[in-house]
Amino acid sequence: MYSKEHRLEKQREAQRRYRERHAEELKAAAERVKGTEEQREIWREKTRQWRRQNPEANLRIQRKADLKRYHATKAAAFEKLGNTCVRCGFDDARVLQVDHIVAIGDTERRRLKHFGKNLWATILQDSAPFQLLCPTCNWIKRVENKEVRQPKSDSRITTSARSTDGAGTKE
Ligand SMILES: [Zn+2]
Repeated sequence: MYSKEHRLEKQREAQRRYRERHAEELKAAAERVKGTEEQREIWREKTRQWRRQNPEANLRIQRKADLKRYHATKAAAFEKLGNTCVRCGFDDARVLQVDHIVAIGDTERRRLKHFGKNLWATILQDSAPFQLLCPTCNWIKRVENKEVRQPKSDSRITTSARSTDGAGTKE
């Protein structure tokens, strides 16, 4: 029995062959649908009119389109960065975070405006200063770079001491 992927692949293959065989007809049909420049201007005006008459619905549509564009750009940027945490290989894009390889201060960050919607465009232009990290590795990097407040004593010792205390209560 064929898998779903296999069937879909077959289907795409058949569609591709159909488009090849009927290239001329399909092109002519597309031209007919597009209409004349005059017709297109009428349609554009109708669209503008509808937008003026339905500002709220129009806003909803615009927002949805913006969001779609945002996610597409983000996905492309993640793809460029390898879609994986560079330290441990974790690859669930839902939690991966963009990290500046060389740490930058808040002022620099504001100046670059990297951390707004421009971040994805910036990465697509030049991904070299960036990498993806999972939340755990990102946190470890911050601790290593002393970007987080350090406890006075080593927290690992405190943790192991506490577990030893727990085990020793039977005595
Ligand atoms: Zn990681």
